[in-house]
Amino acid sequence: MTTQTPQDEIVIQIKKANKWYGDFHVLKDIDLDVKRGEKIVICGPSGSGKSTLIRCLNRLEVYQKGEIIVDGIHLNEDIKNIESVRREVGMVFQHFNLFPHLTVLENLTLAPQLVRKIPLAEAEATAMQYLERVKIPDQASKYPGQLSGGQQQRVAIARSLCMAPKIMLFDEPTSALDPEMIKEVLDVMIELAGEGMTMLCVTHEMGFAKTVADRVIFMDGGEIIEQNEPHSFFDNPQHERTQLFLSQIL
Ligand code: ADP
Ligand code: MG
Repeated sequence: MTTQTPQDEIVIQIKKANKWYGDFHVLKDIDLDVKRGEKIVICGPSGSGKSTLIRCLNRLEVYQKGEIIVDGIHLNEDIKNIESVRREVGMVFQHFNLFPHLTVLENLTLAPQLVRKIPLAEAEATAMQYLERVKIPDQASKYPGQLSGGQQQRVAIARSLCMAPKIMLFDEPTSALDPEMIKEVLDVMIELAGEGMTMLCVTHEMGFAKTVADRVIFMDGGEIIEQNEPHSFFDNPQHERTQLFLSQIL
C-alpha cells in the first residue's frame, strides 16, 4: 500500500496546455505538476509566456488545448468550476490592482463579504490580523493612493490572504517597486512560504528564488525549457538559453 503524505499531494496539474492569441502560439505543450506546499519560481525573458501561464491557473486567460486541474477541479468552461478555483487561488499583480476609491480596510473586506458571505465585523477582524502580519495595521483607514508602492503591494497580499486561498500566484510583485521597497514585500512572501503556502511566483529576484524556491522554472518562447532545484539551476544551468538569460540578469 502506498501512503500519500500531504506534501506529495499534487494540487496543480497542467497537462499539455496550449494557448494561442489569434495565430500566435503563446503556450506550447506546458506540462507541470505542483505539490501542495511547493514554492515555484518562474523566470524567463519578457514575452516568454510567464504571465499567460499563471493567469491560466485562475482562468484570467483561457487555454485552447490540454488540461489544467487545480485542487481536483477541472478548469474548463464550467462557470461553477471557475468560481471554485478562483476561491482557492489568490493572485498578486505587478501593479497591485487595489480599488482606489476604497480604503485599505474596505479593500480587504469587500470580497470576503460578497463572495464568502462573512459578516462585516468578522471580515474586519480578519483583515486587521492580516494587516498586522504585513506590518501596516496603522494604514487601515487610508486610501491606496496615500500609501507607498511597497505598502500597497503588502495590502494586495493581505487582501488575497483574507480569502483564505490554498494557492498564491505572484506575477512580478516587486517589479514596479523602488529598490528600497522590494525587501519589505519579499519578506512578507518569505514568511508566507515558511507557513507552508503553495506559491507560484514569476520573479527575477534570484535571491528570493534561492531562499524560498523548491523549484525554478525557466520559460522561453512559450515553453518550459528547463527546471531544477535552485542550486543546480543557478550553478549548473543545462540549456544554452538558460545560461544566456542568467548571464544577463545575474
Ligand atoms: P511574459 O509574462 O513572460 O512577459 P506574457 O505571458 O505577458 O509574457 O506574453 C507572452 C506573449 O504573448 C507576448 O509576446 C505578448 O506580447 C503576447 N500577449 C500577451 N497578452 C496578449 C493578448 N492579450 N493578446 C495578444 N498577445 C498577447
Ligand atoms: Mg509578465
